[in-house]
Amino acid sequence: MHATVTYGYEDARDLAAVFQGRKPGFTYGRQGNPTVEALQNKVTRMEEGVATVCFSTGMAAIGTMLFALLRRGDHFVSSSFLFGNTNSLFNSFTTQGIDVSFVDATSVDAVREAIRPETKLIFIETIANPVTQVSALEEIGVLAKERGLVYVVDNTMTSPWLFQPKNVGASLIVNSLTKYIGGHGNALGGAITETGLFDWRSFENLYDIYKQGDPQKWAVQQIKKKGLRDFGAALAPEAAHHIAVGAETLALRMERQCANAQRLTEFLEAQPWVNAVYYPGLKSHPQHHRAKHLFRHPGALFGFELSHEVDLWAFLNALKVIIKSSNLGDNRTLAIPVAHTIYFEMGPERRASMGIDNSLIRISVGIEEPDDLINDLSDAYAAIAKI
Ligand SMILES: *Cc1c(COP(=O)(O)O)cnc(C)c1O
Repeated sequence: MHATVTYGYEDARDLAAVFQGRKPGFTYGRQGNPTVEALQNKVTRMEEGVATVCFSTGMAAIGTMLFALLRRGDHFVSSSFLFGNTNSLFNSFTTQGIDVSFVDATSVDAVREAIRPETKLIFIETIANPVTQVSALEEIGVLAKERGLVYVVDNTMTSPWLFQPKNVGASLIVNSLTKYIGGHGNALGGAITETGLFDWRSFENLYDIYKQGDPQKWAVQQIKKKGLRDFGAALAPEAAHHIAVGAETLALRMERQCANAQRLTEFLEAQPWVNAVYYPGLKSHPQHHRAKHLFRHPGALFGFELSHEVDLWAFLNALKVIIKSSNLGDNRTLAIPVAHTIYFEMGPERRASMGIDNSLIRISVGIEEPDDLINDLSDAYAAIAKI
């Protein structure tokens, strides 16, 4: 692990050549580190892309990418079913002169109708959290290509093991490394991967200095050189090392987590004290067929609503194996009451538009023995039903 901020050179001319981009190498830890670069190369291979740049968090990746690529007066189209913090970030962009339209991205028509002459980019998540809507990923990919728009897919919920957005024409891929790729809840990180499918020669917001070499990598050069320099949200080498070790077991963990999620949701769907279960692996899910067609498995996260006689807090507090916590993609199963926590600040109206009921619990499924998890849920209900 290279726990260093700066790099010494024998020949000052080499240092200058690295600064000017004429030689590969490292100058200062904010814009590059060998341990971080090893992880970047790993993520590039997992996504079968051409280049990756890592950040201190997933949010830093999304924010820095958009800030580096968009300018005042630009517009982009986003799915309205979004990770809550991304929703907050996009609202902040609108106050800075970059406009966004939120649309129901389960339908390509809604995305098409929102495109304007000043639209530069489309931003979509694979499986939305916590109600698990599955975007029209393929159809939106075709639309983005037709209109020459940058197509950004946040692959955090699926990870490259379940889905590679390159296969639906994504230009740039977001991964929060904090979640499934790292997998152990011990390091924050984010990544932007360039797939090589977008022709950046037609994108007017790139500076000439970053249009060097392969045009497939121009965006990542600008995000890395300008974005990381300006904002400084660099990934620490220690975190990069944790994440790289975690990534070695991504496939094993996700196989178990997805199988557990299928069992838990089938169990919950059959319980009279459960009003609704949202999981793309269930036949009742509106995009069940799309999820089966696109993803290796339908993910390891689901939402469910308790029937209104069941006290939300008593139920959650009666859980003994499942941990009451935010985060997702951890090895341990985590439960959170959504409306009161991660989606609290956005208010009741926006929550209603996202289909978030007050009794909704989000479960991020871990790698535990599935019977232990099922028993935990049924014991929790039995314990409070007696009161
Ligand atoms: C968690 C998450 C992010 C942000 O990642 P952090 O590493 O927590 O900053 C972005 N998108 C999605 C879909 C996420 O689940």
